[in-house]
Amino acid sequence: MADATNSVAPVFRPSPALSKVGPSAITRMTAATAELKRQGRQIASMHLGEPDFATPGNIVEAAIRAMRAGDTHYTALDGTPAVKSAVQEKFARENGIYFEDDQIVVTSGAKMVLFSAFFATLNPGDEVILPAPYWVSYSDIVEMMGARAVVLPTHAQDGFKLRAEDLERAITPNTRWLLINSPSNPSGAIYRRSDYEPILEVIERHPHVWLMVDDMYEHIIFQDEPFLTPAQLRPDLQGRILTINGVSKAYAMTGWRIGYAGGPAPLMKVIKAVLSQSTSCPCSIAQAAAAEALRGPQDSVRRYLGEYRARRDLVITELSHCPDLKVTEPDGTFYAFVDWRALFGKLTPRGETLSDDEHLCQYLLHDCGVSIVPGSAFGTPGFFRISFASSEAELRLGMARIREGCAALI
Ligand code: PMP
Repeated sequence: MADATNSVAPVFRPSPALSKVGPSAITRMTAATAELKRQGRQIASMHLGEPDFATPGNIVEAAIRAMRAGDTHYTALDGTPAVKSAVQEKFARENGIYFEDDQIVVTSGAKMVLFSAFFATLNPGDEVILPAPYWVSYSDIVEMMGARAVVLPTHAQDGFKLRAEDLERAITPNTRWLLINSPSNPSGAIYRRSDYEPILEVIERHPHVWLMVDDMYEHIIFQDEPFLTPAQLRPDLQGRILTINGVSKAYAMTGWRIGYAGGPAPLMKVIKAVLSQSTSCPCSIAQAAAAEALRGPQDSVRRYLGEYRARRDLVITELSHCPDLKVTEPDGTFYAFVDWRALFGKLTPRGETLSDDEHLCQYLLHDCGVSIVPGSAFGTPGFFRISFASSEAELRLGMARIREGCAALI
């Protein structure tokens, strides 16, 4: 019989691609919140970017119909003809962009478009310019490809939007992509025509630089101006723009995992090569649901927006009662990005000095019972992100706890 004490420890060597990537701050916050709840603590959750609404009934019904009709097999790897034409119509109707069939992919979540586009185009040494604050996954995916995330800080006084002159200075011969997310997770900033135009002029002057735009929060905007996306503003640059979107946020469909993108055919071809050897195709049932989301009645989108607006107003009003916290009112999304630097160095009631935003978030979680995400996760230390996708009751509780937690600091 083999002697367990003499057995050789299994050799486990993760891929070097993962050497710089750990669990994200949001994943860690989710785990810590779940553990505290398991211990019986009541935590106000404000860290997750997930609408708390149920997916609209017409979309659920479309999925049930698809299952009953036997749509339960593999589909084309880039989406069924039905969902692809719904995406095509959506881009034409809402954005005035016209994509051919070979210029569209439908994927298992928008994150999979990002992942496969980077996988398909990045080599070690390549650079991707990320205006910060940026969505947490961008930098991790870029690093997984052995490429370098070039983080360009933006500033509250510029509405957290990239300045063309900063972009110009950051471009090198190794730059492959600039990634812009508008409305932005986490700042809520929206790029208007006057913000995009100078940036697109810089892109035009550097033909080796491509532009990836993440329009995920297109439908969650509080301003009256229409939403604009670069491929619509500069059709002449469409040959180097990848426009990413999805149904997760607009239709409260995070769990259905459907994202989509439009871009130049040669790029879509290599993205499809990645999809073919990874997901094979998105879930057939979820594709039927997404086609209904994009084509069906849009009244739920408007209803959610009204709710988010009320929640945003609540969060901004509550924050105005915290003299040491500064926030720029978000123009879109369901996030507020809060500057807490005036509290830096203060003492918690336990006598600990607040030294960084990870520490602040731990204090607010463990001592005050509210979960938020540190700004460092978004490449911007000194801030934290509040998600107001949760219910009004939870938000009221969370905001009261933040207020009390900040007031208790000396
Ligand atoms: N882009 C941004 C800016 C996001 O916030 C998210 C989700 N948090 C995604 C993309 C990914 O969405 P999906 O659920 O479609 O993968």
